[in-house]
Amino acid sequence: MKTILVTGGAGFIGSAFCHYIYNKYPDYRILVLDALTYAGNAKNLPVDICNDFDNERFEFWYGNILNAGLVDALVEQSDFVVHFAAESHVTRSIFDNKLFFETDVLGTQTIANSVGRNTNKVKKFVHISTSEVYGTAVSSKMDEDHPLNPMSPYAAAKAGADRLVYSYWATYGTPAVIIRPFNNYGIRQHLEKVIPRFVTSVLLGEKLHVHGDGLSARDFVHTDDTCRAIDLVLHAEDEKVLGEVFNVGSGVDRNILSLAEDITGLMCKEEECYVKVGDRPGQVMRHTCDASKIREVLGWEPKVSWLDGLQSVVDWYTKNEEWWRDMMWMREIPIITASGKKELH
Ligand code: NAD
Repeated sequence: MKTILVTGGAGFIGSAFCHYIYNKYPDYRILVLDALTYAGNAKNLPVDICNDFDNERFEFWYGNILNAGLVDALVEQSDFVVHFAAESHVTRSIFDNKLFFETDVLGTQTIANSVGRNTNKVKKFVHISTSEVYGTAVSSKMDEDHPLNPMSPYAAAKAGADRLVYSYWATYGTPAVIIRPFNNYGIRQHLEKVIPRFVTSVLLGEKLHVHGDGLSARDFVHTDDTCRAIDLVLHAEDEKVLGEVFNVGSGVDRNILSLAEDITGLMCKEEECYVKVGDRPGQVMRHTCDASKIREVLGWEPKVSWLDGLQSVVDWYTKNEEWWRDMMWMREIPIITASGKKELH
């Protein structure tokens, strides 16, 4: 039996990855380390599995990735480490960024140090970075050599972690791989993120709030496709992936206005379903993934079509109101703009 440590496994992508691995690999044991911050939710994990203490394939550890002793105790049992845990919301990083640097940079350092102490056991350390490290696109599509121009404290912290992991591979030979997913969408995503916010707004009969002119654009990739990409990286020959960076995205950018139109097209019967509000500081104007490297090296391609993926998200939030009702108050975050104005974003 192989053991895989998943940090941040109670979050959005981490939990999707736990479901994916649990269902696909009956001979894998999953250890989740998660501090259950406001973004983590134990209900994201398969509850029947979590509550089954005799289940040898799954253990949940409530704890912080900054706790080196606890991290060591888990890493030393693990063949693979997949590191998702992070503070992940751009807007929150605008008003309170210290935690982002502590968790995202120093937390990653704690994990990387522990992997370095346990290379006799750990075969691969997959660090989940983000396309946000690139900042606004300076080329039509962004490959892994695109300059790193992080535009928000979140993106800067993630860029620090991304290059920290690379430096550990270069300096210590840590068996690390860096994945830069573009914007993920799927089920169980926190209401602070744009797609769940839009979907639940329509369910509640509210108008959608579109920031600025709505023309800032992102590349959306479904969590199922991201999980498959991580799986391929985990099981690839070392020579193909160690020390490498892989983008994971669809290659299509969609602006927020078109996103609002697609969601209201699926859900909203009224004429005008959205209103425009002030733009977010540190806004990235466009992200479009060039995923040719992971396609060529590992044969990965996105499989979930946009409208099918979006429909499944709409269906899930429609059926799972008890999951999201309690986080309604966190849908919008107050920030103070450069002009001193308080705005909800
Ligand atoms: P999320 O905010 O939904 O989940 C983060 C998880 O990490 C939560 O369960 C939280 O409790 C946990 N956590 C936070 N601080 C911790 C700490 N100090 N110790 C232990 N656990 C802690 O995030 P997500 O959207 O699932 O993103 C997962 C990873 O993927 C992050 O590293 C993020 O930067 C990256 N990423 C996300 C996206 C996206 O679109 N969501 C895109 C690209 C990259």
